[in-house]
Amino acid sequence: MYFYIEGLVLKNMDFKEADKIVTVLARKEGKLGLVAKGVKKPKSSLRGVVQPFCYSRLHISKGRGMGLITQGRVLDFYGSIREDLDKTLQVVYLMELLDKCTADADPHPRLFDLALSVLQYLDSEDSFPLVIRWFELRMLTELGFGPKLDRCIRCGQSEALERFSISEGGVLCRGCGVSSQAEGLELSGETLAVLRVLAARDLDFLRRLRVSKRALQQVENLLERFLAYHLERRFNLKNIIKFLKDDNL
Ligand SMILES: [Zn+2]
Repeated sequence: MYFYIEGLVLKNMDFKEADKIVTVLARKEGKLGLVAKGVKKPKSSLRGVVQPFCYSRLHISKGRGMGLITQGRVLDFYGSIREDLDKTLQVVYLMELLDKCTADADPHPRLFDLALSVLQYLDSEDSFPLVIRWFELRMLTELGFGPKLDRCIRCGQSEALERFSISEGGVLCRGCGVSSQAEGLELSGETLAVLRVLAARDLDFLRRLRVSKRALQQVENLLERFLAYHLERRFNLKNIIKFLKDDNL
């Protein structure tokens, strides 16, 4: 069977002497593992198209086992992201998130489009403090774990929302928060407002946002814990950054 897909290369791993196994997230087909034969040879035409976070069109030949990439074309290389270490690290984390949060052959076209819009945004903008947070929140929503931000998750009131419950997945009012001090996270008014913007507005709106360092940190911490709890996996951007900076890039 021959067909082609258009997808993001999430990662690739060495396989045999000259080959790689490439993990691709395709819009229509979902996540696929593919073999790129001979890609480690200097003259291979596949070298460019299987690089992490390339958006590529890949032609595939498939029998019973894994599909083989027969040829490909880069649709977007995101050159200005690759020239910037900070942006590259954010995107490495993005690819890791996509890989861990998706199952094989289980398509999420909307999630794919969100990821593509983040790559396009990062490729064209100089400042990007909340872009990855925006993606995390949208991804959680897309996967059915979106946090409840409008009313207290226990009593339903919409005033004095001062804490966030990771396990219950939403905001708590002052009264309900008192009884869950140990597990709830502190939530400033600014942090709640930022979360609501991330949940409701398009990426373009982020350009206009001015957010304090404290709120940025609260949002990052909250989403990191929320992701870890609800997706039962630990995504720690700081560890990934440390790993990469230590000498692995
Ligand atoms: Zn309440």
